[in-house]
Amino acid sequence: MDYGKIKEHFDNVIITSKDFNSPKPVNDLNLLYPPFLEKLIKCFGRYNEEYPEHDVYVVETYRSNDLQKKYYDEHKSKIRKDGMHHFGIAADIAFSINGEFSYKGNYDFLRGIFTEEGLTVLKWELGHVQFIPVSEQNELRKCVSAG
Ligand SMILES: [Zn+2]
Repeated sequence: MDYGKIKEHFDNVIITSKDFNSPKPVNDLNLLYPPFLEKLIKCFGRYNEEYPEHDVYVVETYRSNDLQKKYYDEHKSKIRKDGMHHFGIAADIAFSINGEFSYKGNYDFLRGIFTEEGLTVLKWELGHVQFIPVSEQNELRKCVSAG
């Protein structure tokens, strides 16, 4: 896994973003690591071949450590800081069906596509997808973290 490119994206795009310390959820696709975004778009396209009436919707992309800590304090996340969202390599997915925000898309089908395309899904978080396996997270944090 080439963390150097992920670090470059983190240093050049994420740290310099106006949303770096955002206390609110961010869904700006431009903060995602481009090869990850490319894969997501490919997966959404495959999903839409089967479900053209569903729009796959990215609820959250980048997440500041301030917001991550808030989720941790509220027991919405087990991670206190430097989750994969913080590095632009995770996304939380919902749907828009008939113009209405929805969690009623076919997650099983979409998650199957994510896995086939080499992305990682989590058993405990239905809408979450990330670029690297859980087993590589600590290594990535060491390489990329702002310190
Ligand atoms: Zn997530």
